[in-house]
Amino acid sequence: MTRIILKKGRDESLRRFHPWVFSGAVAQIVGQPAEGDVVGVFSHEGEFLAHGHYQVGSIAVRVLSFQGEDALSPDFWVNMIGKAFRVRQAAGLTDSGSTNCYRLVHGEGDGLPGLIVDWYDGVCVMQAHSVGMFRAKGAICEALKSLFGDSLKAVYDKSSGTAPFKAGLDLVDGYLYKAEGFSDDQQVVLENGNKFLVNWTEGQKTGFFLDQRENRELVGKYSRGRNVLNLFCYTGGFSVYALKGGALRVDSVDSSKKAVDMVGENMELNGFDPSLHSDIRADAIEFLRGIPEDKYDLMIVDPPAFAKHRGALSNALRAYQRLNAAAISKVTPGGLIFTFSCSQVVDKEDFALAVFSAAAQTGRSVRILGRMTQPSDHSVNIYHPEGEYLKGLVLYVE
Ligand code: SAH
Repeated sequence: MTRIILKKGRDESLRRFHPWVFSGAVAQIVGQPAEGDVVGVFSHEGEFLAHGHYQVGSIAVRVLSFQGEDALSPDFWVNMIGKAFRVRQAAGLTDSGSTNCYRLVHGEGDGLPGLIVDWYDGVCVMQAHSVGMFRAKGAICEALKSLFGDSLKAVYDKSSGTAPFKAGLDLVDGYLYKAEGFSDDQQVVLENGNKFLVNWTEGQKTGFFLDQRENRELVGKYSRGRNVLNLFCYTGGFSVYALKGGALRVDSVDSSKKAVDMVGENMELNGFDPSLHSDIRADAIEFLRGIPEDKYDLMIVDPPAFAKHRGALSNALRAYQRLNAAAISKVTPGGLIFTFSCSQVVDKEDFALAVFSAAAQTGRSVRILGRMTQPSDHSVNIYHPEGEYLKGLVLYVE
């Protein structure tokens, strides 16, 4: 096995269980690893530190195990995914009568850097964010089969947009496993008793934004008697909870036609009167600029990540400020705004500062009623604080 030898003194972060080895910390590579190979990482003095997937780029190794040179046993994937399952079990997600979809594997948060697996009532949708995880997909699928047996309906690999292979390699998404008789590319799942149609082949990411489950519930609690605007609505997750919570009406806005079309289907699935909601295909900022100031007294603002890397941070902060200023200026006095950022490089202080600047720009009096984050199935490895990516504020605007 290839040995990655670190520079002197550059073993500190691995000894504190941080799961990445940066290329700048590498003194020597003994062997000729292909991208995605499992390699051993050693201190300058030759002490074994970790096993991980080798990568080309600023992160040279993503760690799979810190435990001894022979830790990558044949049962590795079953052990690790089994542990991830038990975390979801402890959180009450695996045998809940009202929720049958959750994130089963959340990358670094579950000690499996670069791997996402979402569970949709027996269908596992996986996304590999590293070449190593992509190359391991067969073993991952076998582990899922052995862990879930008959309750596994399918394993779908959706890594074409996420696995960082060099351009030119044509990746094709597809099923790694299908139980006999299972043929659909979509199915209806339950989240807190609400029904949602999830289409993993056509939808964004793995098909549904499971990370907003608890925040949707919170919106439901605040919605009674309110006129709700759900911006960046995708398939209407927040809209369904708002109507369930007693909203007077809900307007849902997204720039994607496919997404907006599914909002109507989800409304129908949950039995809501069509006159209580409309689905609007539009750019969220343009839509906000065009509305009067007395129309909505609850807004949800959940844009896609504005910054995908550190270099984009300052532009992203300006974009959050612009968007939130537009929302704050248009919400009715006494109105609420649930505003989010899912950019990993924007931390919660940065985001709060962008929203503060937005409020100041409008001159309105704004209170913070609550802070939101990602749920337990998007767990954060304490040694990898970068894993905390979703943050949100509940604002009350006078
Ligand atoms: N709140 C959603 C998830 C939002 S993901 C949920 O609970 O499921 C971000 C969404 O923003 C995507 O659906 C994407 O299509 C949409 N989007 C991206 N740019 C947009 C824009 N400029 N205006 C409106 N929607 C946009």
